[in-house]
Amino acid sequence: MSLNYDLHSHSNVSDGALSPTELVRRAHRNGVDVFSLTDHDEVKGLNEAAQAARACGMRFVPGVEISVTWANKTLHVVGLNIDPDNPLLIEGLRKTREGRQQRARQIAASLAEQGIEDMYEAALAHVGNPALMSRTHFARALVERQICGSISEVFTRFLSEGKPGYVPMTWARLEEALEWILQAGGQPVIAHPGRYDYTPVQADALYDVFLQLGGTGIEVVTGSHTPEQYREYADVAQRYGFLASCGSDFHAPNESRIDLGGLPPLPARLRPIWQAWS
Ligand code: AMP
Ligand code: MN
Ligand code: MN
Ligand code: MN
Repeated sequence: MSLNYDLHSHSNVSDGALSPTELVRRAHRNGVDVFSLTDHDEVKGLNEAAQAARACGMRFVPGVEISVTWANKTLHVVGLNIDPDNPLLIEGLRKTREGRQQRARQIAASLAEQGIEDMYEAALAHVGNPALMSRTHFARALVERQICGSISEVFTRFLSEGKPGYVPMTWARLEEALEWILQAGGQPVIAHPGRYDYTPVQADALYDVFLQLGGTGIEVVTGSHTPEQYREYADVAQRYGFLASCGSDFHAPNESRIDLGGLPPLPARLRPIWQAWS
């Protein structure tokens, strides 16, 4: 019997809409057997999630999704099985979060130039953790104000590179992010590789560098990929010898295309990231 693994999700400790407890209960209800909370740049929700998972008898994997800048673009690296109390990881994540407040002010100022006023306060009303203001919170506020019809429309019209409301950020360096995850005993995983617009040469360089730095995993089946991309990144995993991971990247009911536990299984030809887990 194969287990249902969902190893990528967000609570309101980052840009998800549910509390860690609500998220865990929803995962359990949806038939997830092994679950990871991977909030952006923050581990504060992991204790609550672990406790809630214990209460419903579901296996829990402490995780994080770190914002990285590599080759001038944002890249997300998931760390699985991390020790949330590791001081190096905690300090690294704190530094990574640092610029978010100022960026939020700049996003609001940029939207105000478009005649969309008071968006800092409007976004803040959606924030569960003031240290983690995300573009998603602005997106929810713009939908709430009926300036856009959906979150994805917000990212098409605003907040993405080249659009009003986009503020460039320099996140953690790849070497740092991997060091923090490895020092915390975790496994580094390239999140949703299909979402980056690296050139093929850059993508190959990324996979090489990632492996050299001690990275082991790549997401193949994720809520961000099409079935065609499941095959494409299954090939990448095999070609480079990555362990394969999977996760819904669930953020909120009625917002995320794939619900918790809703993904198809990993292709059987791959070695899963959990192959060495006890
Ligand atoms: P931030 O870390 O504040 O830059 O926000 C990044 C988050 O915005 C991602 O983790 C997604 O949750 C969300 N996001 C980015 N692009 C899109 C998009 N095209 N559609 C929906 N959500 C997006
Ligand atoms: Mn997100
Ligand atoms: Mn991501
Ligand atoms: Mn994510």
